Amino acid sequence: MDRDPSSGPDFVRATFSHKGRREGHRMPDQTPPTVTESAMRGLACKCPRCGKGKLYAGFLTLRPNCTACGLDYAFIDAGDGPAIFIIMIAGAIVVGCALVVEIKYQPPYWLHAVLWLPLILATTLLPLRAMKSLLIALQFHHKAAEGRLIGREPE
Ligand SMILES: [Zn+2]
Repeated sequence: MDRDPSSGPDFVRATFSHKGRREGHRMPDQTPPTVTESAMRGLACKCPRCGKGKLYAGFLTLRPNCTACGLDYAFIDAGDGPAIFIIMIAGAIVVGCALVVEIKYQPPYWLHAVLWLPLILATTLLPLRAMKSLLIALQFHHKAAEGRLIGREPE
């Protein structure tokens, strides 16, 4: 590279920041999966790297690592992501249905409770596992992580 050496410190820092960048947690002998493949692994609740090992030990409890490829699941941080997607989607479905039924039939309140409580449970609990797993798979695919400062050489 024939850069002007007078641009000293900035050039040194820039080079270091590229070298210091962390490599992803992907196996080097595999071709990287497409977003669709990663998403399908997520929806199937499988390991985001190999797609074979299970992700969950319980309903929403994660295993410590993949039983098939040994990927450490410690990097996973889905946070509130799954819950907020489920709230938005389930809320739109249940409130939409309740409004339509109320406007068309004006049923007594107990009938609303009988209709919508099971629907609320079905639209929140059923997709929660797959949604959490999907977000984990996408986190892994895009190597999303908490922001970190780039390591720099001491001056
Ligand atoms: Zn795996």
